[in-house]
Amino acid sequence: MTAKQLESLVRLWQERLGLGGWRLVVEVETPDGGNAATASPTRYSDEARLRFAPWLLGKAERPAEVLPAHDDEVEVVVVHELLHLALRDLDRGHEIIEGHLHRDVEAVFLAGQNAALERSIERLSLALVRSWPTSVDAQRVASAYGRDPE
Ligand SMILES: [Zn+2]
Repeated sequence: MTAKQLESLVRLWQERLGLGGWRLVVEVETPDGGNAATASPTRYSDEARLRFAPWLLGKAERPAEVLPAHDDEVEVVVVHELLHLALRDLDRGHEIIEGHLHRDVEAVFLAGQNAALERSIERLSLALVRSWPTSVDAQRVASAYGRDPE
Protein backbone atom coordinates (compact mmCIF):
# COMPACT_ATOMS: atom_id res chain seq x y z
CA MET A 1 0.00 0.00 0.00
CA THR A 2 1.29 3.46 -0.84
CA ALA A 3 1.26 6.42 1.52
CA LYS A 4 -1.36 8.02 -0.74
CA GLN A 5 -3.65 4.96 -0.48
CA LEU A 6 -3.20 5.01 3.29
CA GLU A 7 -4.16 8.69 3.34
CA SER A 8 -7.33 7.88 1.33
CA LEU A 9 -8.25 5.15 3.78
CA VAL A 10 -7.77 7.54 6.71
CA ARG A 11 -9.94 10.21 5.04
CA LEU A 12 -12.67 7.68 4.23
CA TRP A 13 -12.91 6.48 7.83
CA GLN A 14 -12.44 9.98 9.23
CA GLU A 15 -15.73 10.90 7.57
CA ARG A 16 -17.48 7.65 8.50
CA LEU A 17 -16.58 8.06 12.18
CA GLY A 18 -17.78 11.66 12.34
CA LEU A 19 -14.30 13.11 12.62
CA GLY A 20 -14.59 15.30 9.54
CA GLY A 21 -13.79 18.44 11.51
CA TRP A 22 -10.48 17.10 12.73
CA ARG A 23 -7.17 18.20 11.25
CA LEU A 24 -5.11 15.05 10.81
CA VAL A 25 -1.49 14.69 9.82
CA VAL A 26 -0.73 11.21 8.46
CA GLU A 27 2.86 9.98 8.55
CA VAL A 28 4.56 6.74 7.57
CA GLU A 29 7.27 6.58 10.20
CA THR A 30 8.14 4.16 12.94
CA PRO A 31 5.88 4.94 15.93
CA ASP A 32 7.17 4.87 19.49
CA GLY A 33 7.00 1.67 21.48
CA GLY A 34 7.06 -0.81 18.61
CA ASN A 35 3.40 -0.19 17.75
CA ALA A 36 1.90 -0.67 14.28
CA ALA A 37 0.49 2.84 14.58
CA THR A 38 -0.11 5.62 17.07
CA ALA A 39 -2.56 8.49 17.31
CA SER A 40 -1.37 11.59 19.12
CA PRO A 41 -4.19 14.08 19.57
CA THR A 42 -3.58 17.54 20.91
CA ARG A 43 -5.07 18.02 24.33
CA TYR A 44 -8.03 20.31 23.67
CA SER A 45 -8.37 20.93 19.95
CA ASP A 46 -9.46 18.47 17.28
CA GLU A 47 -6.06 17.86 15.78
CA ALA A 48 -3.90 14.76 15.75
CA ARG A 49 -0.83 13.19 14.28
CA LEU A 50 -1.31 9.62 13.04
CA ARG A 51 1.86 7.63 12.58
CA PHE A 52 1.93 4.27 10.78
CA ALA A 53 4.86 1.86 10.78
CA PRO A 54 6.46 1.32 7.34
CA TRP A 55 6.25 -2.46 7.85
CA LEU A 56 2.46 -2.20 8.12
CA LEU A 57 2.38 -0.93 4.52
CA GLY A 58 4.85 -3.56 3.35
CA LYS A 59 7.66 -1.02 3.12
CA ALA A 60 9.90 -2.68 5.70
CA GLU A 61 10.36 -6.12 7.15
CA ARG A 62 7.59 -7.18 9.51
CA PRO A 63 8.86 -7.56 13.11
CA ALA A 64 9.26 -11.22 14.08
CA GLU A 65 6.96 -10.86 17.09
CA VAL A 66 4.04 -9.52 15.03
CA LEU A 67 1.43 -12.00 13.81
CA PRO A 68 1.09 -12.55 10.04
CA ALA A 69 -1.01 -9.98 8.20
CA HIS A 70 -4.71 -10.49 7.53
CA ASP A 71 -6.50 -9.01 4.52
CA ASP A 72 -7.98 -5.98 6.24
CA GLU A 73 -5.15 -5.37 8.69
CA VAL A 74 -4.28 -1.84 7.58
CA GLU A 75 -7.91 -0.77 7.53
CA VAL A 76 -8.51 -2.18 11.02
CA VAL A 77 -5.43 -0.33 12.28
CA VAL A 78 -6.66 2.91 10.68
CA VAL A 79 -10.09 2.55 12.28
CA HIS A 80 -8.49 1.60 15.61
CA GLU A 81 -6.39 4.78 15.69
CA LEU A 82 -9.32 6.96 14.61
CA LEU A 83 -11.50 5.45 17.34
CA HIS A 84 -8.88 6.57 19.84
CA LEU A 85 -9.58 10.10 18.61
CA ALA A 86 -13.36 9.62 18.72
CA LEU A 87 -13.02 8.34 22.30
CA ARG A 88 -10.34 10.80 23.33
CA ASP A 89 -12.28 11.96 26.36
CA LEU A 90 -12.40 8.41 27.76
CA ASP A 91 -8.64 8.27 27.40
CA ARG A 92 -8.38 10.98 30.01
CA GLY A 93 -9.47 8.92 32.99
CA HIS A 94 -6.27 9.84 34.73
CA GLU A 95 -7.29 13.50 34.87
CA ILE A 96 -10.37 12.57 36.87
CA ILE A 97 -8.52 10.65 39.56
CA GLU A 98 -5.17 12.39 39.44
CA GLY A 99 -4.03 13.15 42.96
CA HIS A 100 -7.02 11.50 44.65
CA LEU A 101 -5.68 7.97 44.98
CA HIS A 102 -2.49 6.39 46.23
CA ARG A 103 -0.10 6.26 43.28
CA ASP A 104 -0.01 2.43 43.32
CA VAL A 105 -3.81 2.24 43.21
CA GLU A 106 -3.84 4.87 40.49
CA ALA A 107 -1.31 2.89 38.42
CA VAL A 108 -3.36 -0.31 38.71
CA PHE A 109 -6.57 1.53 37.85
CA LEU A 110 -5.03 3.20 34.79
CA ALA A 111 -3.46 -0.02 33.53
CA GLY A 112 -6.82 -1.78 33.81
CA GLN A 113 -8.67 1.09 32.19
CA ASN A 114 -6.17 1.28 29.33
CA ALA A 115 -6.33 -2.47 28.67
CA ALA A 116 -10.14 -2.38 28.65
CA LEU A 117 -10.14 0.59 26.28
CA GLU A 118 -7.71 -1.13 23.89
CA ARG A 119 -9.77 -4.34 23.82
CA SER A 120 -13.00 -2.39 23.28
CA ILE A 121 -11.53 -0.31 20.48
CA GLU A 122 -10.11 -3.39 18.79
CA ARG A 123 -13.49 -5.17 18.88
CA LEU A 124 -15.22 -2.09 17.47
CA SER A 125 -12.58 -1.67 14.76
CA LEU A 126 -13.02 -5.23 13.55
CA ALA A 127 -16.81 -4.98 13.66
CA LEU A 128 -16.88 -1.69 11.75
CA VAL A 129 -14.46 -2.77 9.03
CA ARG A 130 -16.15 -6.12 8.53
CA SER A 131 -19.69 -4.74 8.49
CA TRP A 132 -18.85 -2.15 5.81
CA PRO A 133 -17.44 -4.41 3.09
CA THR A 134 -19.34 -3.08 0.09
CA SER A 135 -18.92 0.63 0.47
CA VAL A 136 -18.95 3.17 -2.31
CA ASP A 137 -15.19 3.11 -1.95
CA ALA A 138 -14.88 -0.66 -2.14
CA GLN A 139 -12.97 -0.37 -5.39
CA ARG A 140 -10.49 2.08 -3.93
CA VAL A 141 -10.03 0.08 -0.74
CA ALA A 142 -9.72 -3.20 -2.65
CA SER A 143 -7.12 -1.80 -4.98
CA ALA A 144 -5.21 -0.55 -1.97
CA TYR A 145 -4.87 -4.19 -0.96
CA GLY A 146 -4.03 -5.31 -4.47
CA ARG A 147 -7.10 -7.50 -4.92
CA ASP A 148 -10.33 -7.31 -6.85
CA PRO A 149 -13.43 -5.90 -5.14
CA GLU A 150 -16.03 -8.47 -4.15
ZN1 LIG B 1 -4.97 1.40 20.67
